[in-house]
Amino acid sequence: MPDPENPPPVTSGLLSRTRVVLVETSHPGNIGAAARAMKTMGLRQLVLVRPRLFPSAEATARASGADDLLQAAVVVESLEAAIADCGLVLGTTARMRHLEWPVFAPREAAAWTLAQPTSGDVALVFGREQSGLANEELALCQRAIRIPTAPDFSSLNLGQAVQICAYEFRLAALGDAVPPPVEEDPLATPAELAALVEHAKRAMATVDYYDPARPKLLPVRLQRLVARPGLARSEVQILRGFLTGVEKLADGTLATRRKRDIGEE
Ligand code: SAH
Repeated sequence: MPDPENPPPVTSGLLSRTRVVLVETSHPGNIGAAARAMKTMGLRQLVLVRPRLFPSAEATARASGADDLLQAAVVVESLEAAIADCGLVLGTTARMRHLEWPVFAPREAAAWTLAQPTSGDVALVFGREQSGLANEELALCQRAIRIPTAPDFSSLNLGQAVQICAYEFRLAALGDAVPPPVEEDPLATPAELAALVEHAKRAMATVDYYDPARPKLLPVRLQRLVARPGLARSEVQILRGFLTGVEKLADGTLATRRKRDIGEE
């Protein structure tokens, strides 16, 4: 039996690197409720994108002692700024939407996050009380989270949605995680990403965009680009197919030009 006085240490660091991002919250009370939900679960980083009213006495009241999180909250002007330095971004939505990537339940999302090969910060993004997150905002997220609900009543109060997600992240961080879900479209492996970088460099050299004799920062930047988490194997295949097409086209064009130069045409 776990001893409630001596809980096991949180070893994954997941809680300290997970931030909650609230986008354009209308009711300051919900910001306070979110802070309270976070603090009970050991999350500390709160980022507010254009809150209607903050700081506010109502937020402080609803935080019920989690006002240290409110004081440390960072207010930014855009979702892009809120997530700029995050390795993983997960957006929450109450609606069933057609999205290009899987929609996880919070439990699966926490297990998936823990299984990703990144130690960077993780953003959990929550939308507006009235309208949630826009599709363009969800498109900035690598995965979506939907809290399973009764089919005809899917919209939770913002603070309660934060509570449920934070709780599942806490369980996962404490090592009580379910196995990560099997993804239909698996992430590319490091070897596949390295092959993509090599292919891109080759194709870029063929079209004179890149000079291997004077590489400058391009190889490093390419590596950094593909190392951003979330690139699926199928996406790497699309890019490589495209690069092969560019190479073929360039080869054909160059061959024609060479023939012309030596008078064969
Ligand atoms: N009417 C809005 C609901 C907004 S509720 C809509 O259609 O999207 C405010 C926020 O709480 C949502 O943007 C989301 O971040 C969170 N939320 C509420 N219910 C949720 C659910 N079932 N699953 C995941 N997040 C939920």
